[in-house]
Amino acid sequence: MIFQGQCHCGAIRVALSSDRPPEEQVLGACQCSFCRKHNARAFSDPKALVTLTAAEPQQLQRYTFGLRTSEQVLCRRCGVYVAMTLAEGERVWSVINVDALEDRARFSRAAEPRDYSAEDREGRVARRKARWCPTTLVGWAVAASP
Ligand SMILES: [Zn+2]
Repeated sequence: MIFQGQCHCGAIRVALSSDRPPEEQVLGACQCSFCRKHNARAFSDPKALVTLTAAEPQQLQRYTFGLRTSEQVLCRRCGVYVAMTLAEGERVWSVINVDALEDRARFSRAAEPRDYSAEDREGRVARRKARWCPTTLVGWAVAASP
């Protein structure tokens, strides 16, 4: 199944490919201050595939904080938080904001609170590589730096 989504204005698009029905997908509620301010429901599954497309690359806003091991992907125009990415060389992983998907209501499990604040940099990166979605970025090359 492929689930399509986008920011509110459509400048940043997301496609999630997963074999599991959305009703069974586990969702996380990261307790970091960024995710709480967005009340984000996070989705990640190493068996799922994500494509993030900057349909309008000039609207791509990337934000980083804390240990600066990932980038939060937001739309500059409409302000929607779409995903968080980790890149290493050519490889990219992401966790997506499931509420950016058109079928958001079908992802009906309660988001489980998760506190990663005790992790060090190495542990954090290792966990993300193991648990986040392998990701393809389209249209990212011309994006402004965070
Ligand atoms: Zn937008």
